[in-house]
Amino acid sequence: MKNIVLFGPPGAGKGTQADLLKEKYNLVHISTGDVFRYNIKNKTELGLLAKTFIDAGDLVPDEVTINMLKEEVNKHADANGIIFDGFPRTQSQAEALDVFLTEKGEQINGMIALEVAEDLLVERLLERGKVSGRSDDTDESKIRNRFNEYNTKTAVLKDYYNAQGNYYGINGVGSIDEITIRLAQVFDKI
Ligand code: ADP
Repeated sequence: MKNIVLFGPPGAGKGTQADLLKEKYNLVHISTGDVFRYNIKNKTELGLLAKTFIDAGDLVPDEVTINMLKEEVNKHADANGIIFDGFPRTQSQAEALDVFLTEKGEQINGMIALEVAEDLLVERLLERGKVSGRSDDTDESKIRNRFNEYNTKTAVLKDYYNAQGNYYGINGVGSIDEITIRLAQVFDKI
């Protein structure tokens, strides 16, 4: 399997690019945000638990998220590879993912990060909020809180994967096609 973490701040375009890469390389795409939203919509126990955190722009607690992620991965034992989108988002999630994959004889081949400046992202998210119906995209203070969570808990993961020689940053500003090409260039070489 070739497994990647698609990384970047909120609104960087991970979901859009993951859909394209998934088709191009026949991969499985696991978006923790999508799994949470599905559970919220269907009013499952997990959804009810996650909703308060997500609505506030806070991260869902690690234990809940890690268990959910493992279940998702276990559904796809015969995949060519997995795109992790929105996970890991904390150091303990990254450590748990490494342990979990190692037990399966698998690994993360690379973290590919979409690098985009924060000011541009707030604009993009407010625009997305007009059409997405996402409760966390409609209010600038919630968006700012998501960046705060990203900057204080998630951004350190660059160092985590860098230390493994597995971090690849690409410019996340440009047309959708241009960015897919940049991602594919990294994907092909890792
Ligand atoms: P974005 O990257 O645009 O903020 P996501 O769909 O990836 O959107 O995530 C939406 C929300 O879901 C996050 O703000 C957070 O509350 C929750 N969430 C998603 N993934 C995780 C995770 N790995 N750990 C904790 N919370 C998460």
